[in-house]
Amino acid sequence: MSSSNSANNTSRNQQEAFAETSIAGKPAGYQIADWQQRFPYISAGITSRHGGISTGPLASMNCALHVQDEPQHVIANRAAFADTLGIPVEAWTCAEQVHGNRVALVTAQQRGRGRLTREDALQATDALITQEPGIWLTAFFADCVPLYFFDPEHKAVGLAHAGWKGTVLQIAEETVEAMTSAFGSRPERMLAAVGPSIGACCYEVDDAVAKPVREALERMEMAEQEIRFLVPDRERAGKYRLNLQQLNGQIMIKAGIMPIHIEICGLCTSCRTDAFYSHRKEHGRTGRMAAWIGIDLTSV
Ligand SMILES: [Zn+2]
Repeated sequence: MSSSNSANNTSRNQQEAFAETSIAGKPAGYQIADWQQRFPYISAGITSRHGGISTGPLASMNCALHVQDEPQHVIANRAAFADTLGIPVEAWTCAEQVHGNRVALVTAQQRGRGRLTREDALQATDALITQEPGIWLTAFFADCVPLYFFDPEHKAVGLAHAGWKGTVLQIAEETVEAMTSAFGSRPERMLAAVGPSIGACCYEVDDAVAKPVREALERMEMAEQEIRFLVPDRERAGKYRLNLQQLNGQIMIKAGIMPIHIEICGLCTSCRTDAFYSHRKEHGRTGRMAAWIGIDLTSV
């Protein structure tokens, strides 16, 4: 099988792309190890389920306001995590996610939107981009795929939420295009990462999902690669394993990002409920991790 343009074979350190971190003994989530080493001014990663005060199935670091948690627990968890990373909680800026593909440009005036209430968040948006230092773009996950974008040339960042719907709506490509038009980002100079999500090991889908995935693959002229992303169950007709991480990696390549510049996490949220929340594994009653990316030029 050709590997010349395959994210599968060219991303580095598949298992270690996201490294578990702690600061002064407190869980500091899983961070993109390579970026952290090379660019001291960038912070990017995803929280684990540990280190907060939420209880029951949401224990303990639930970061989202829409899962029937006590709002003060969520707000305290966000503040505690920001404190662990040494970032002011006022930097925390988020959207109300709808499994769409709208990308919002975040300006200094929008810093902190959605930090305390859902109503205040940027509405109907699944990707955020900014060139503003001191803004911490965040989005919430429990199986869907966090996508990270970083343009070192223009010191700009992006973060997208891609479940199967956002994936087939090509939100990865929409985010790259938005950064190109807003900041002059050149895809061939950008870095990208695909974070922890439900893996092909656990993500069984039926024809209701397989059909729109196939249509998207045809639209993107990737139909011949279907077997890489949508693996049929040998014993049960109409059942498949969907590999959202690899599919999003391939859409990043289609958007012009070089395979060697793409980190693919490989961690499965459903296999690893010791570390992560999983909507499917925990039958819908669970918390959300926060993925984040931000630029802190004061640390340079
Ligand atoms: Zn799994």
